[in-house]
Amino acid sequence: MTPADRLSAVRDRITRAAKVARRDLAGVTLIAVSKTQSADAIRPLLDLGHRDFGENRVQEAQEKWPALREAFPDARLHLIGQLQSNKAADAVALADAVHSVDRPSLVAALARAMDASGRRPACFVQVNIGDEPQKGGCRIGDVPALLAQARDAALPVAGLMCLPPHGLEPAPYFALLAKIAREEGVAGLSMGMSDDVETAVTLGATHVRVGSALFGART
Ligand SMILES: *Cc1c(COP(=O)(O)O)cnc(C)c1O
Repeated sequence: MTPADRLSAVRDRITRAAKVARRDLAGVTLIAVSKTQSADAIRPLLDLGHRDFGENRVQEAQEKWPALREAFPDARLHLIGQLQSNKAADAVALADAVHSVDRPSLVAALARAMDASGRRPACFVQVNIGDEPQKGGCRIGDVPALLAQARDAALPVAGLMCLPPHGLEPAPYFALLAKIAREEGVAGLSMGMSDDVETAVTLGATHVRVGSALFGART
């Protein structure tokens, strides 16, 4: 399959799911997760008009994206991996959105970096939706306080993000994240990956993060 085939296949899956759910397709942003992919692998998607990309690591994004951005100034970069507070300034300088805001110290570091730079990337609060010890994301019970802190610090809160437990049916976790977002009055839902895009879109995802279905399996 060519990159064009892969992109249209993923777009078709999203379109079908949106139709079933009677949702406006414009309410779903496809983020092409380009972590571990070379600039040469990313460029065809940019050439095809795709603009939203996701990276896990700040350093990797710093290596790849300045040159790509020069060629495609309207490309948007989403940081989706766990973020150390000492990388907050780099993240704010580089990203259009940060999907992994998950603790008070990171909110504070991002707020400082935003105030210093004047750049204000959209922020998603990552929720440890399956209550897994090894996973990033704040505990479900801590979401209201973290959202309040983020709002007080003038972070542009766009929504909630989750990664459901690996190997389990994701629908209950997506539905739970959507419920928490409704209760907390946040609009965005960053959820759904290559294997479960349809489920996520049906349950209200506004941002789906798709890697392998667009680029092939990561090595
Ligand atoms: C890698 C990654 C994805 C994409 O996963 P695929 O299964 O390759 O689609 C989405 N979200 C996060 C946070 C990731 O790290």
